Amino acid sequence: MTIGWHFDNTYSKLPNNFREEIKPTPVKNPELVILNKELATDLNLDFSKTNKKDLAKLFAGNLLPEETNTIAQAYAGHQFGHFTMLGDGRAVLLGEHLVNNNKRFDIQFKGSGRTSFSRGGDGRAVLGPMLREYIISEAMHSLNIPTTRSLAVVSTGEKIIRENLLPGAILTRVASSHIRVGTFQYIAAKQNLEDLNTLVEYTIDRHYPEIKSSNNKALDLLNLVMQKQCQLVINWMRVGFIHGVMNTDNMAISGETIDYGPCAFMDHYDPKTVFSSIDKFGRYSFSNQPPITKWNLTRFAECLIPLIDKDEDKAVKIATEAIDNFQNIYETKWLNMMRDKLGLFGKDKSDQKLINDLLYWMESNKADYTNTFCHLMNINSSNDSKYKDTNFINWFKQWESRILINNGSIEKSINLMKKNNPIIIPRNHKVEEALEASYNNDMSLTNKLLSILNKPYDNQNDIDDYQSPSSNIEYQTFCGT
Ligand code: AMP
Ligand code: MG
Repeated sequence: MTIGWHFDNTYSKLPNNFREEIKPTPVKNPELVILNKELATDLNLDFSKTNKKDLAKLFAGNLLPEETNTIAQAYAGHQFGHFTMLGDGRAVLLGEHLVNNNKRFDIQFKGSGRTSFSRGGDGRAVLGPMLREYIISEAMHSLNIPTTRSLAVVSTGEKIIRENLLPGAILTRVASSHIRVGTFQYIAAKQNLEDLNTLVEYTIDRHYPEIKSSNNKALDLLNLVMQKQCQLVINWMRVGFIHGVMNTDNMAISGETIDYGPCAFMDHYDPKTVFSSIDKFGRYSFSNQPPITKWNLTRFAECLIPLIDKDEDKAVKIATEAIDNFQNIYETKWLNMMRDKLGLFGKDKSDQKLINDLLYWMESNKADYTNTFCHLMNINSSNDSKYKDTNFINWFKQWESRILINNGSIEKSINLMKKNNPIIIPRNHKVEEALEASYNNDMSLTNKLLSILNKPYDNQNDIDDYQSPSSNIEYQTFCGT
């Protein structure tokens, strides 16, 4: 095979505490379900000369590329607030694939069999949820939001026992790394300062080389990760994305969105929106995402205390001051993001009120978050009677006069809005419809959905059904592992 893999496996050379060497468990009858050719090209990989059978074996882990050194990574995590030692219980890292000798990407199989971190689990994954991760992660990428990517899905030919028997699958995930807040928690819990230092050095080398020669690396790392995570959650708030399970093990130090389980996009604007069936108390609701990001960062800071200062009290004080900045950083970024969504240039003292008034109106009138901004951009301006409401019309007049401040042209505002407001998001009913068809070996709906999600900021033809909110307002998602 002349695929072009270029593996270099630095993580597998870290001390034993960090990982377990383990091979994927071969599967019975693998078949290729989907391959991301665009991503393959970006990774300098050429699968065109490999036949479908070998591709299936490759992405199932039955036939491993040379120079891989497969491992399961150790990590811990606060799951819904409760600390647990975890690790890759159903994933293996093949290694890091180098592109042009400088860009480094983790290549990971998810659903590849049991590891020593599996606890009671079977190490396997189901077709629907793996395709779901593929679809949503690729949609996020097209929305210009940092995310892990999806290179392929194979079905395994094996049945998985869940609420009933379901087809097994393996996802090939590509990430700038899989280092999580939970990775730091795992190493910190082992109370081995040398390992903690190794992890900090490794992370900085890989993601934040600009602080390599800093005199307080741990503190600088905390601040940089805080900036990245803050920017990420701002992006989620911009497009109405609800991650659904923001446990510390699902928060990547790189600032990429990771682990697409019960995630979904909000239709009508409601800050309390929760889709996940297990999130009974709304811990990970839409509007709780920023405070939870701060909560997770605080857990990250706790791990770094011994390296921030030898004097523990002093270290705690320094870390607390850093974390206390989150609110300010977030609020400033949020206001600017909302200004962009509304096409507002510069700053005006009335901006916060103008934004809050619109959000309040959307919430009270159950207006669709995405489509309301499309309406403002005059795109597919629906005849939705909601927008004939006098409160909305009054708000609209204020918005129009604000647009003319600092800018002077509606066109310029609309151009700014078009870059920040998607026309297309993965609507829940379209995702479900595609997944359902995939269970009958029909990938046409998934492929069509993916091609439309590929250009979320473009006004495409014949996409009405992809723009309409789900009629099922009780929509629920399941971890569906
Ligand atoms: P997740 O909900 O996918 O973020 O997973 C949380 C933890 O449970 C991770 O340590 C996973 O590796 C583990 N896990 C999830 N599903 C399985 C499974 N089917 N078998 C073994 N471990 C699993
Ligand atoms: Mg996870």
